[in-house]
Amino acid sequence: MNLEVQGKAFRPRYAISLRLTLILIFMVVGMLPVLIQGQVMAGSYRQNLIGSRMQEVQNQCWILSNKMTRAGYLTMEPRDALLDNEMAVKAGMFNGRIVVVNRNFRIISDTFSLSVGKINVSEEVIRCFNGENSSKYNSEKHYSAMAIPIYSNSQEKEIAGVMIATASTEDLLDRISDVTEKGMFLHLMIFSTLALLVFFLAALIMKPFRGLQRMLDRAAEGNLDEDISSRAYKETRQISDSINLTLKKLKAVDQSREEFVSNVSHELKTPITSIRVLADSLMGMEDAPTELYREFMSDISYEIERESKIIDDLLTLVRMDKTSGGNLNIAQVNINGLMELILKRLRPIAGKRNVELTFESIREVTADVDEMKLSLALSNLMENAIKYNVEGGWVRVTLDADHKFFYVKVADSGIGIPEEFQEHVFERFYRVDKARSRETGGTGLGLSITKKIVLMHQGAIKLQSKEGEGSTFTVRIPLTYIS
Ligand code: ADP
Repeated sequence: MNLEVQGKAFRPRYAISLRLTLILIFMVVGMLPVLIQGQVMAGSYRQNLIGSRMQEVQNQCWILSNKMTRAGYLTMEPRDALLDNEMAVKAGMFNGRIVVVNRNFRIISDTFSLSVGKINVSEEVIRCFNGENSSKYNSEKHYSAMAIPIYSNSQEKEIAGVMIATASTEDLLDRISDVTEKGMFLHLMIFSTLALLVFFLAALIMKPFRGLQRMLDRAAEGNLDEDISSRAYKETRQISDSINLTLKKLKAVDQSREEFVSNVSHELKTPITSIRVLADSLMGMEDAPTELYREFMSDISYEIERESKIIDDLLTLVRMDKTSGGNLNIAQVNINGLMELILKRLRPIAGKRNVELTFESIREVTADVDEMKLSLALSNLMENAIKYNVEGGWVRVTLDADHKFFYVKVADSGIGIPEEFQEHVFERFYRVDKARSRETGGTGLGLSITKKIVLMHQGAIKLQSKEGEGSTFTVRIPLTYIS
């Protein structure tokens, strides 16, 4: 069976594979915390290193300042060479510079010996003389600077000078970048391990979907008996259940199409076989009397008529199948008038079979219908009621309506339909009694045409019947057709 679907199939423009999506999600969810944590740790490591370096410089400067206070460094002449030396050693230790400014803002000592004798009235010096110790870090040039007071003597705590120390943190930055590099390597390792893990995990998660796809591919090749079942996840279970349901419906459609084709061939062959038998037997007879010829030719003509009726009915059905409701010629029709016309046409047939045909109209009804099609649908019901009746029986047709629908009831006193066959009588070519149907010129398509027309009018058809007592078909059609 060819399952190719005609028309535009829905295909998203950019289809990303589920596996890739899973991998990306896992990577982002797995790696993001690691990266964020890495960044936070690198930042706080940097802060800690610089902080402790500044603390250390400050401690050393305080020790030096205390020593200078005790030695009266600011006023002694010449200055203590030991303290100058210690100052140079400490400045060297921090790869920085120490400058001492006295009360007159004059620089009296400089480890770089560049500005001795010059005046320094910088903000930090003034603030330090006012009792505010300052300490700051220049993150662009990578150095810290601080101002530490030097007192005139240990008791009075009078600020007699300021020590300005700058210390480079370049060496720390090297250490930080070294650690960052190691961190990057670690991240890379974690990333690769995670990627590998995620790759296998995604494959594992996708396994049931791939199984489902394989089964679907087999079904698409035409194997409608394939049982699509993937029970691994709730989602795959739901998908496979829906697919199985669709396959079941497809199978039913396929089967009914096959049945229909074989029924059509059979039905079309039957009259032709009869014609052939009649013609062959005529030809086989030598000097057959004219009456026999006439009789056989009339039988042949009857069979041709039957064949043509089957073809007509089939064409009616096929046309309705194609349009499926879209091709109704809806107009406001007086249903009472329509019924009268049908009955007028059928009365001679009923008379021939000695069946009493009556019509009761409970109210005047006008509705939106396709006159031709509805007339065909109702005729079929009434013809059947006459055909499958008993000698001296009756057919009562009633027309009634409420504010929404009109109802046509066709009741007969005929042979009835056994309960087990009732649900099948609307199927194509279904006949309860094949011989009787053929005898009365039935094609087995009448009720399926009627049902189709009623459904096209958004109506419903109901059957009540008891074998040997009669049948009642009730048709309900909306007064207004909503397209
Ligand atoms: P047919 O051309 O054989 O009449 P229909 O589709 O009209 O085909 O009807 C299907 C079958 O339903 C008939 O063959 C007959 O057996 C049964 N049937 C239909 N209408 C009646 C009825 N009013 N009373 C009894 N049997 C009926």
